Amino acid sequence: HAKQRGERYCVFESHLGARVGERLRMAARLARALEADGLSLYFQPQVDLASGRLVGAEALCRWFDEELGAVSPAEFIPLAEERGLINRLGAWVIDAGCRQLAEWRTRGLGFSGRLALNVSSAQFDDDQLPTLLLEALARHGVPAERLALELTESGFMNDPDHAVAMTRRLKEAGLALHIDDFGTGYSSLAYLKRFAADKIKIDISFVREMLSDPNDSAIVTTIIAMADSLGLSALAEGVETQAQAEALLALGCPEGQGYLYAPPLPAAAFVRDWLAPGAD
Ligand code: C2E
Ligand code: CA
Ligand code: CA
Ligand code: CA
Repeated sequence: HAKQRGERYCVFESHLGARVGERLRMAARLARALEADGLSLYFQPQVDLASGRLVGAEALCRWFDEELGAVSPAEFIPLAEERGLINRLGAWVIDAGCRQLAEWRTRGLGFSGRLALNVSSAQFDDDQLPTLLLEALARHGVPAERLALELTESGFMNDPDHAVAMTRRLKEAGLALHIDDFGTGYSSLAYLKRFAADKIKIDISFVREMLSDPNDSAIVTTIIAMADSLGLSALAEGVETQAQAEALLALGCPEGQGYLYAPPLPAAAFVRDWLAPGAD
């Protein structure tokens, strides 16, 4: 028996070892991609549900590695957080987002909404974040009113007092704050009020089945009512069907984002389909 257990342990250990090795190799390649400008940003439109018009866009990070292929951000973002690469990755995203906004402006493409950048809680905990943002905006000649930050509830909860101060600094500078994946975390109404966010993004998991699951429908209804009573705007993630868009609109949710309108697009396709003069 002992031997059997020992064998099993060995199998388990080498399996685990292989996984750890794989993650380390991926982290090393990610670090190299960061140095070699090997990441890119895709852009997903955020629309006014009533008119379908563009109100903003979310920048989503993409990594295509020659050996590993396309790696999902659902994999490499947590890896970057684990391996201490997230602040560098975040700084790259901020610079690339501002650079893109400046380019659109130079080309007269009239992007008048905000570009929303995802920010990890480790970045939000970093006192240098406002400076990093303001320097990138200045470097590219972009006004802060063109940027929003998307942060999940956990980003606020690590250190609420620090988060309140950080929120205030960013908002005074002209940036907007959107709470991502809303409903999946733990924020109370009291916190929401203290953080003075501008918009809450209703998590995709509630939107997905809001037309078939009465619980999800009740949650979506409640989130919209709550946003409304706190004077916050609401945007639904993962809108895939016209029926969802109509139901959201009927419940009073003004904005949405999802495959119904467009998936995240490379910059050229985003410009062609959403920004080109006359595309309106
Ligand atoms: P998220 O911020 O919640 O982003 C929304 C995710 O939903 C994106 O996945 C997007 O492609 C996907 N999505 C959009 N519309 C639909 C839809 O209609 N249906 C479905 N099923 N999915 C839709 P993506 O691009 O794979 O990103 C995954 C996560 O990775 C993001 O979730 C975000 O947490 C993280 N992430 C991506 N880029 C960055 C970044 O630059 N910085 C940080 N910190 N995190 C990032
Ligand atoms: Ca997001
Ligand atoms: Ca989200
Ligand atoms: Ca998410």
